[in-house]
Amino acid sequence: MHLWPQKTTTPQSRYRDLSSFEPEFWKKKALSDLSAEEWELLCDGCGKCCLNKIERRGKICFTNARCRFLDPETCLCRIYEHRFAKVSDCRNIDLATVLKEPEILPKTCAYRCLSEGKDLPSWHPLISGNADSVHAAGQSLKDRPLVSETEVKNYEDYVVDWPDL
Ligand code: SF4
Ligand code: SF4
Repeated sequence: MHLWPQKTTTPQSRYRDLSSFEPEFWKKKALSDLSAEEWELLCDGCGKCCLNKIERRGKICFTNARCRFLDPETCLCRIYEHRFAKVSDCRNIDLATVLKEPEILPKTCAYRCLSEGKDLPSWHPLISGNADSVHAAGQSLKDRPLVSETEVKNYEDYVVDWPDL
């Protein structure tokens, strides 16, 4: 997950005042040229990169087993500031990861979409101006049938083929 310091920022406050950003900056700049702030804004908060994955015959498969620290209501990480210290396989979603391992991101992830030459979807908060639009459009993990990884014995039993993954 690539989100923001949640002690000082809420999902909606990120999109409240974008006047310091170039309009539609994601269409005008390469991913490699984005500022750290622009990169942050691209994360829609779907939470889908916090699902556990397994490799089957060389293919990455998503499961519906969420990281124990992902809040299934908000789709936010409960330990964002300490995530790398507490979760050894928590991934930093940076440019190198997006380019080298796009398959660990869902098809809807803004970083993956842009790296594949696609535009942002209409429900993306940068388009809608509303952080909740990702949830309202059914594109986040909210209200999906998830299990906590703490309940999982065999990830093979939890592989899902949701079309947006
Ligand atoms: S999948 Fe992409 S857009 Fe969704 S939370 Fe992860 S980094 Fe953000
Ligand atoms: S610690 Fe877990 S919930 Fe938090 S960002 Fe990493 S994978 Fe996601």
